[in-house]
Amino acid sequence: MTTCSLSFPPQINLASLPTPMQPLRRLSQKLGVELYIKRDDLTGAALSGNKIRKLEFILAEALGQKADMLITCGGAQSNHCRATAIACAMLGLNCRLLLRTPDPSNPPPVEGNILLDRMAGAEIVWISPDEYLKRDELMAQEAAALQADGRKPFVIPEGASTSLGALGYVRATEELVNDITNNLGGARQPCTIICAAGSGGTTSGLILGAKIFDVNARVAGVNICDDRDYFVRAIGDICEQAVADFNLDIEFDRHQDIDIIDGYVGRGYALSRTEELQLIKEVAQTEGIFLDPVYTGKAFYGVVEELKRDPKCFGERVIFIHTGGIFGLFPKAQEMVGVL
Ligand SMILES: *Cc1c(COP(=O)(O)O)cnc(C)c1O
Repeated sequence: MTTCSLSFPPQINLASLPTPMQPLRRLSQKLGVELYIKRDDLTGAALSGNKIRKLEFILAEALGQKADMLITCGGAQSNHCRATAIACAMLGLNCRLLLRTPDPSNPPPVEGNILLDRMAGAEIVWISPDEYLKRDELMAQEAAALQADGRKPFVIPEGASTSLGALGYVRATEELVNDITNNLGGARQPCTIICAAGSGGTTSGLILGAKIFDVNARVAGVNICDDRDYFVRAIGDICEQAVADFNLDIEFDRHQDIDIIDGYVGRGYALSRTEELQLIKEVAQTEGIFLDPVYTGKAFYGVVEELKRDPKCFGERVIFIHTGGIFGLFPKAQEMVGVL
């Protein structure tokens, strides 16, 4: 086991860890490469997915500051907002979510993640896509108003993708090193670790973790919105901030170390193509694993398309990080039925 120069800041235990690493036997055979899946969709039941790994660090900081309310933001079906709402309920904190929807005066139905947000007791403020562009300002205003009222609000930026949040995936890399040693025939065998990139925190943590723990792996993110340039900027900023904040003893170069597989945004954020939904169905039917339509389904579609072009484009072994998102399937039930 490699030693680590980083002494981690406080963390609270909310996720069920370590998550399993499993082979995708039938898909491996079909695609001609060893495919594994890291089941971060199993970090909990309702509190599942990648966001809880980041929140373990961020909520420790919030509790350290004696916060009594968390404020965060996302799309209407945000997994991050749902995880925050549930974590707040577990910790006895209040929660306010700024959720984006095309017409705030006519909010979307209470289903999927929104149902869980509401059941966990989160307050929802609906905001328009234009307002969402100024989300950081809006959250700061909400916080200032609450503070003036004697409350102790704490703001979590979109996706919990801060330098502190990224440590959740530095920690996950420690798990991956064990998985690789125990299941993949040894840590010195090269592999490619792939995840969906949405706000970039997960990819950032994996890039930093691979360097810190000297993992013999290529780390790549499949962007599910925006483009490569956007993510080189977003991930570059998070990683550079983390190197500075935590005095990381590594070399990081945003122009060399960030590997984005662009070309699979499809119809746009949270919009599905038939072929993406068909792949989600195929993975459910052949492996018993449910990918989500917004992140993992899109990213895994990208992985499969790349492998179809060249089965060895990622080397011999691929680890796909299943970052969760199952509740996003339910609002898409009607679309999904169309491909069953
Ligand atoms: C948020 C999310 C991602 C993307 O992670 P980032 O750290 O925001 O890049 C991937 N998959 C699921 C299911 C998510 O909810």
